[in-house]
Amino acid sequence: MTAIPRHLLPLTATVDNGQLLIGGCRVSDIAREHGTPVFIYDEEHLRARCHEAIKAFGQDRVIYAAKAFLCTAMAKLAHDEGLLLDVATGGELFVALNAGVPANRCVLHGNNKSLNELRTAMKAGVRHIVVDSFDELERIERLHAEGLPAPRVQLRITPGVTVHTHEYISTGQDDSKFGFNLGNGSAHKAIDRAKQSKAMQFVGVHCHIGSNVFAVENFTHAARIMVKLANEVQAEELTLGGGLGVAYVGGEHAPSITEWSTHFKAAAAELVGDTKVFVEPGRSIVADAAITVYEVGTIKHIDGVRTYISVDGGMSDNPRPVLYGSGYEAFMPTNVEAARTKPARIVGKHCESGDVLIHEAHLPESLKVGDLIATPVTGAYGHSMASNYNKVPRPPVVFARNGSARLVVRRETPEDLVRLDIL
Ligand SMILES: *Cc1c(COP(=O)(O)O)cnc(C)c1O
Repeated sequence: MTAIPRHLLPLTATVDNGQLLIGGCRVSDIAREHGTPVFIYDEEHLRARCHEAIKAFGQDRVIYAAKAFLCTAMAKLAHDEGLLLDVATGGELFVALNAGVPANRCVLHGNNKSLNELRTAMKAGVRHIVVDSFDELERIERLHAEGLPAPRVQLRITPGVTVHTHEYISTGQDDSKFGFNLGNGSAHKAIDRAKQSKAMQFVGVHCHIGSNVFAVENFTHAARIMVKLANEVQAEELTLGGGLGVAYVGGEHAPSITEWSTHFKAAAAELVGDTKVFVEPGRSIVADAAITVYEVGTIKHIDGVRTYISVDGGMSDNPRPVLYGSGYEAFMPTNVEAARTKPARIVGKHCESGDVLIHEAHLPESLKVGDLIATPVTGAYGHSMASNYNKVPRPPVVFARNGSARLVVRRETPEDLVRLDIL
């Protein structure tokens, strides 16, 4: 195996004497200062992706799907760059509002929004609510009857499109917990009802077919169906979701955000009115902007079987390998250009055999206990899905830019681990 492929590293990554720099900062210096594991984001990369998305889809047409990675600094960054924010729970809405993002720049999602979540969103005045079910239509009517203003709503439609991705993150097929099915008439029933209701203002339709989708024809297929529906119901707005895949390992190549947009534009050309088209990228904005840096703690070699390399994190900071069987690469940030010829399984420190980060990694022969290893492309659904399993404190997040590394989420402390406990 050769050195780590350049396209898996963040945009500003450079190598100086074998040492990786991100945003002009030495990765090993950040690891020394903030400890390991640590998520290091290339801030320039995040901003460049936001910029690319707006350039491709237009001003006020890009909604960042905050669940991919959210903290105060990220909410501010996305807002500063002109993106709207898609929040899927009251918690995500709180973080966005608390960061200073105006409510009318937020969009509320979720297949089971509680009365309280809807109340908060309607009171705050979110830009629109993406309604997911008949029960939710009723809840909005109830809240309006209590005196809350009628929200703008889009209806989430399940267009009956099956995509090539992991079944856990495929969401546009008929058999789904999300949205109103187009195929069985529910979608039209819900749209009629929303249009007639005085408790809400129907503005459009929405779909999101799944996540980490590489096949652009899946997006075009769904977009064509949704464009036809938008024309039929005279929707002012049409949201086509997120879901663009990213390359996690060498040999994988994903379409860029710009390429992705060309496929939507072809479908959107069929719109008869001046319907506004929105997208909701999450992963494609943040995934390859970050790496996670770990320290190697133990190396166990079993003759004729394999070598296990244990790091100081694991499934608590990156559950994706366990959840979806996702692949990653590893490399030494202090020896970036070295050939990676030593096969090994990289595992975490949690008390189960399933705690595997990389089943078949390749690392330089020189690797020893105490060295740093990094996994690239961990900016999406890593920190946001992190847990305290085994009471491991969640890692910090550092934004590196122009030679300075800024801590934006501190590491949890032992005190944080008991802050909710009542004696
Ligand atoms: C998760 C999600 C997205 C973003 O998906 P990515 O694969 O991260 O781009 C967009 N819209 C909705 C409704 C989602 O649930």
